[in-house]
Amino acid sequence: MTTQNRLVREYDKFLDCVHCGLCLPACPTYSELGVEMDSPRGRIHLMRAYADGRIDLTDNFEMHIDQCLNCRACESACPSGVHYGSLVEAARAEIVEKRPRSASDRVLRWLVFEKLLPSRFKLSVLFLPMRIYQSTGLQWLVRRLGLTKLLPSRLRDMESMMPALPDPSLKGQLKHFMPARGAASCRVGMVTGCVMNEMFTHVNVATARVLNENGCDVVIPRQQTCCGALQVHGGERGIAEALARKNIDTFEEAEVDAVIINAAGCGAQLKEYGELLAGDPAYRDRALDFSARVKDVHEFLAGIPVKEEMGTIEARVAYHDACHLAHGQRIREQPRDLLSRIPGLELVELEESDSCCGSAGVYNITHPDMADRLLDRKMGHVSQARPDVVATGNPGCILQIQHGVRREGRDIEVLHPVELLDRAYRIKREGTETGAKDG
Ligand code: SF4
Ligand code: SF4
Repeated sequence: MTTQNRLVREYDKFLDCVHCGLCLPACPTYSELGVEMDSPRGRIHLMRAYADGRIDLTDNFEMHIDQCLNCRACESACPSGVHYGSLVEAARAEIVEKRPRSASDRVLRWLVFEKLLPSRFKLSVLFLPMRIYQSTGLQWLVRRLGLTKLLPSRLRDMESMMPALPDPSLKGQLKHFMPARGAASCRVGMVTGCVMNEMFTHVNVATARVLNENGCDVVIPRQQTCCGALQVHGGERGIAEALARKNIDTFEEAEVDAVIINAAGCGAQLKEYGELLAGDPAYRDRALDFSARVKDVHEFLAGIPVKEEMGTIEARVAYHDACHLAHGQRIREQPRDLLSRIPGLELVELEESDSCCGSAGVYNITHPDMADRLLDRKMGHVSQARPDVVATGNPGCILQIQHGVRREGRDIEVLHPVELLDRAYRIKREGTETGAKDG
């Protein structure tokens, strides 16, 4: 028996669209391709035609829906408040459920979405060969000898995007309980993420230290799991729902005032658990309560009296708005405000700072050509701004812009804003004043 068309359930959202086209200039895929069906209005038209039963789920339908970055820039631009993100996520779930998939595709999805991402242990095993590749100097040698040219193009792209992985011993610094410096004014839970926990352990450590510095006891529950964002974007809502239930149970047990997240994509997802579990009577209200407690780290810090005693960082910093912070959570001023409090730091604006860099979850792997075009555009704006540092609050954007910086041979650091805050606090404590690279 086939399940009900998911887009029919979302039908009210189609009715908000008045087809004005004001979202078109904000859409990166429309700007690059100039094709109506690769614009928000065109995709809404397609999805509604399918919901009305006027078209089928064809290859063409899937291609235009897949090409969407789910960056939600169209939501910021839309005067009618169309919830485009929910529509495209429902369309993707419909495609995954109803379109035939090859056996290899099904196995790959099961492996990545259901087995790997939710398991910290399996992820750390997966990252082990990459750590060996880097720590033994093999990566240096392979790149030096130009051997990456021998790899298939997809693998070559992935290799070139691979950042220097952080020291795995850093994970030991992330304790179950990390007390505030001085008197505690609140108790917060921290989401450490799945891939974030492996590739950006240093950002998690910096986040916990900055929270401790600002009077927060930090709890990092061991039972937490992946937020489910990649699963929802990939159309696997059932898996995402199970992950959401587990995170709600875990953070309820931790009895925290707020749940802090430092990754924009994960934060947007955690804030939508209420919507994700709306059909589950046992979790619906608990999901809404959980989502109301979720705060992006910049949002949370901007709402408390932040400790102003910081060391000087002499650096020109350009801030890139991660899509799921700016468009997904409407958080734009808080990171800029926090950065501008650091003595010596000069904050410069990037042109089109809230336009997607091409990262978009795994988009840079599934659609490397479009991702490259968007990265080129972003790097053009970075060149104009001439920063020492690009700061951005999403791990995918950090990886993508770092890739752009390496490709162009530039001497620019790409950091999360909390790394700069942490650096400024440490400089103050250690009694030294320094530039951006000395932290
Ligand atoms: S999504 Fe919004 S901005 Fe775009 S065409 Fe519809 S109403 Fe206009
Ligand atoms: S989510 Fe981004 S790529 Fe997709 S239609 Fe909206 S603006 Fe375009």
